[in-house]
Amino acid sequence: MSMNSESTDILIIGSGPVGATFARVLTERLPQCKVLMLDGGPRLTQQAGMHVMNLSSHQERSRAQRLSEGPVRTKIPSPSEGRIPAQPGTYLLDPSGDTFATSGMPAAAMSTNVGGMGAHWSCACPRPAMEERASFLSNETWDELLSTAERLLRVTPGVFPLDATAIGVLAELRRIFGHETTNDRPVDFMPLASTRAENGERIWSGADTILGELADPETNPTTFELRPQTMCLRLMMNDHGIDYVITKDLSTQRTTKIYARVVIVAADALRTPQLLWGSGLRADALGHYLNDHPQSKCIIQLHEGLASPKSKPLIPTKPDHVLGMYWVPFTMPTHTFSGQVVHLDHLPVSADPGAPKVEGHFAIVTWFCRKDLQYRDCLEFSDTEATLHGMPSVNIQYRLTEIDKTTAATSRELIRRAASGLGRVVDGLDVWTLPSGSSLHYQGTVRMGAADDGTSVCDSHSQVWGTTNLFVAGNGVIPTATACNPTLTSVALAVRACERIVEMLA
Ligand SMILES: Cc1cc2nc3c(=O)[nH]c(=O)nc-3n(C[C@H](O)[C@H](O)[C@H](O)COP(=O)(O)OP(=O)(O)OC[C@H]3O[C@@H](n4cnc5c(N)ncnc54)[C@H](O)[C@@H]3O)c2cc1C
Repeated sequence: MSMNSESTDILIIGSGPVGATFARVLTERLPQCKVLMLDGGPRLTQQAGMHVMNLSSHQERSRAQRLSEGPVRTKIPSPSEGRIPAQPGTYLLDPSGDTFATSGMPAAAMSTNVGGMGAHWSCACPRPAMEERASFLSNETWDELLSTAERLLRVTPGVFPLDATAIGVLAELRRIFGHETTNDRPVDFMPLASTRAENGERIWSGADTILGELADPETNPTTFELRPQTMCLRLMMNDHGIDYVITKDLSTQRTTKIYARVVIVAADALRTPQLLWGSGLRADALGHYLNDHPQSKCIIQLHEGLASPKSKPLIPTKPDHVLGMYWVPFTMPTHTFSGQVVHLDHLPVSADPGAPKVEGHFAIVTWFCRKDLQYRDCLEFSDTEATLHGMPSVNIQYRLTEIDKTTAATSRELIRRAASGLGRVVDGLDVWTLPSGSSLHYQGTVRMGAADDGTSVCDSHSQVWGTTNLFVAGNGVIPTATACNPTLTSVALAVRACERIVEMLA
């Protein structure tokens, strides 16, 4: 059967926060260019890429979460089965699913929907610093890119009310960790990609926030199109880069050839390298240096003296049970972790899922560690087995090193220090280290580098080495061992990639 064929100037694969960054910056800077953005997942809301927490009804939210949980509905394991439950809106890459085997990273998960994981994320946007930043970019360049990324994501430091509890929690964390951080990176409120509406309601940033008017099909320019439920199956390479790509409309099963002057793959840190490998690209570093943040946590009830009775959700009908969020930043060499304390209005876990919510002042205390990066931590692609959509099957090889185990043990000590200052550990929820993959911050698999020396997949503008028109994007491009949540960094690096594309197409 002959394939349809069409053309565009810029093709973006993946509509999460990073794909959205390319769409926004490139439509603004290159208004003469046609931009097409595809996503294999469905559109959840009329406004493309909206965070599901901004939906007002519980039913709408649950429906949107379910729609994001993959092309094949796998059985969600319950904790009583001794298996790992996925976060709402995500699905585990379990061998019973459609794509991946996950030895070593049992909690690896993804989202397939317009807006990607950005429709479900917690919006924490700490800035990377010191060794977290790739040293081939100057600090000045980093600061400029991060400021632009903060504007695109609408990062606001003070989105929660500054009440007595907030002041008390912050003072206590500063007492415990103040001597380990520096004046320019103090213990502080977590910078969040969120704003407050006039009625006090918190608005969670998603891909729609970045897209701006592009998110609204009524107002977007005719040069931009977002096409949901359209998978990119293969990039057809020529000697210099991409000739055209093959896509499949999942509602009609129709395949199409799309010719583009520039192709950007922003399909997350697991599926971007999978697509490149399946398209015949064989860079040594492709799929290697995989890392997520080893993560430990505990759950506490705040000391009575800290819990102000006024700390109540402003809009009790909305599902926003977060009353505050605090950050103990990565600081070399004294605190090489990113600590976060999330103050909630109820106990977030229960042995009995049917039991009523236990209200009160609780907090999840989480410390993210830097991974000891290893080439051997990788996505192993199969040459013989294929997934549902004909992509190569993937086996995840991933192990914590002895250094990682020591780092995780230190993070558990730090959590205990935070917990003992802030409250009392809830029975049965004392510090534990989560299975690998739980952070949902997968990095390194299409990493950038300063030179084409086999240790990276793309240059510092995200252009794949040896190609004239192929760019990769998302957390996979981050080459360093970070402790901070990655999205702000990936959006910043996407802004840099846009500079090169603008030079090429202007
Ligand atoms: C519950 C939760 C909490 C989180 N909290 C935070 C946080 O507080 N801070 C933080 O920094 N990060 C957090 N994250 C991670 C954050 O959401 C991701 O870092 C971010 O979404 C990455 O953006 P992205 O655009 O690179 O990829 P994604 O958002 O994953 O989007 C990738 C998109 O590509 C599409 N796609 C994949 N393959 C194809 C294909 N072949 N063809 C077409 N489309 C394809 C997918 O459908 C998906 O929509 C969290 C994630 C979750 C789920």
